[in-house]
Amino acid sequence: KPVVAIVGRPNVGKSTLFNKLIGERAAIVKDVPGVTRDRLYRDIEWSGHEFLLVDTGGLEPNTKDYIMSKVRYQAEVAIEEADVVVFIVDGQAGVTALDEEVAYVLRKKNKHVILAVNKIDNLEKHSELVYEFYGLGFENFIAISGEHKQNLGDLLDLVIEKFKDIELIEEEEGLRIAVIGRPNVGKSSLVNKLMGEERTIVSNIAGTTRDAIDTKFEYDGNSYVLIDTAGIRRKSKVEESLEYYSVLRAIKSIKRANICFVLIDSKEGVTDQDKRIAGLAFEEKKPIIIVINKWDLVKKDNYTMKDYEKEVKDQLPFLSYAPVIFISALTGQRVLKLIEKSEQIFAEYTKKITTGVLNQVLKEAMMLNPVPTRKGRVVKINYATQIRTAPPKFVLFANNPDLLHFSYLRYLENKIREAFGFEGSPIEFTVRRKG
Ligand code: GDP
Repeated sequence: KPVVAIVGRPNVGKSTLFNKLIGERAAIVKDVPGVTRDRLYRDIEWSGHEFLLVDTGGLEPNTKDYIMSKVRYQAEVAIEEADVVVFIVDGQAGVTALDEEVAYVLRKKNKHVILAVNKIDNLEKHSELVYEFYGLGFENFIAISGEHKQNLGDLLDLVIEKFKDIELIEEEEGLRIAVIGRPNVGKSSLVNKLMGEERTIVSNIAGTTRDAIDTKFEYDGNSYVLIDTAGIRRKSKVEESLEYYSVLRAIKSIKRANICFVLIDSKEGVTDQDKRIAGLAFEEKKPIIIVINKWDLVKKDNYTMKDYEKEVKDQLPFLSYAPVIFISALTGQRVLKLIEKSEQIFAEYTKKITTGVLNQVLKEAMMLNPVPTRKGRVVKINYATQIRTAPPKFVLFANNPDLLHFSYLRYLENKIREAFGFEGSPIEFTVRRKG
């Protein structure tokens, strides 16, 4: 959820604006626990967009002689966590040194800023007051009156416009792929291949930490981001071979990914360390493709893919839903298929089944194999619905939720997969009581 901060020097009308925005023009969705006491944060909804509005006025020290450093500090804290900043100034007072101070901090932080010139009750009469603030150097500009609730809707519209810019950037980034596996399975070889000449590397995106570099590439009209390529390609085998480091890196990458490639070395088969790393992706409930690399080294006469796949699945029983793809990062065999599969898997992960069709499938499943009675009591599932995607999660409503055995849930999961697929995606269930 985006964060919008109202920032400005003392006495420009921050809290009045905050109160008017939460009280009148926008619907309050709910209070945020823990901070409601100070009433500094509120959830707001405006034309279908939810955001968190922050009143930095409440952060001000309760003293008359504000010093510049305090104002600067207050602004910096608020700005740090904000996606959009509403910079409010006093139109009647004109530009002051403290306004310049706040403007300086804002420009330095490179945030989306909307300059709101407050206390302008009559724009025609006071237009020259407004124009004075052009000098602060912000492109988005609006005259408002917090007190008299003028132009507040337009102000919120401007804020929403900024969200669209931010969302657009996120969408353009594309699928975020984590390539994980123990040392020497071929992670860097695969990353190099994916970024090879046939595709254009668009840019390096700075990651969340200084040493995590993500790389964006395009294929077949879609964008992809390979996560933490620096960590993968850095050839510090000493460090990487310490399991602690490779696991830590893998966890960080998985958390930021929306699909995981779990690499296995086909010459070695599934090792215990492979199992642990695959388990991390499983625990984070991410969509997964099991990638069997170095397939060029395997003699195909005695081993078919089918045999091999079965062996791998036996070793990784918790990933029964994950597709297995055989590649050679060295020759490039089926490397592009991996990318095409990613699109499919992600579509499955984010798929939503309508309640009617879902219940039809479950009804048939329960007819074929009725819910077992337990402790002499009948368990009845009345209906089910999918409450979320990514990962897909289903709620079953039953008369005795506690008596529903997990093996029966496993059965229902299989039936749901038979009917709807969800390849590569974990599925979650929760059972609630309903007569
Ligand atoms: P990482 O530690 O997981 O990044 O693994 P590397 O990409 O450094 O690969 C380890 C070794 O396996 C290197 O010597 C690679 O040349 C080799 N290698 C990687 N992929 C393949 C492959 O598909 N086939 C063959 N024959 N060798 C590979």
